[in-house]
Amino acid sequence: MKNWQKKRKEDRKAQEAYWKEHRNCEVCLAEGRGKVEAVEVHEIIYKSGGGKCIPENEISTCRPDHGRMHFLRGPFLEKEDLWRIKNLDIEVMQEKLRGIRRGNREELYKMKGVKC
Ligand SMILES: [Zn+2]
Ligand SMILES: [Zn+2]
Repeated sequence: MKNWQKKRKEDRKAQEAYWKEHRNCEVCLAEGRGKVEAVEVHEIIYKSGGGKCIPENEISTCRPDHGRMHFLRGPFLEKEDLWRIKNLDIEVMQEKLRGIRRGNREELYKMKGVKC
């Protein structure tokens, strides 16, 4: 099996595992719309930006809210909004993101998980 095929399979597996634990849109829950089935698992720090398929970087979302995360429709959902919804420490996550942008290997190692 080729490496990229393996990665893609691991990526799918990680997202599916996350979805099984979070079947409802986390934004709808946080914004008081109740239980709405999630159809996507979004990476808060994009894969292209060094984000990994690990639970702290993933969020289950319905299609309309996914559009807000990709700034296709308003009101937009910034990374900070998503970290707040997930009850993650915003300063810790911003520091982690800065580390990834600087190519800080330690930050990358702290975000162990599937590079997807
Ligand atoms: Zn939603
Ligand atoms: Zn997305």
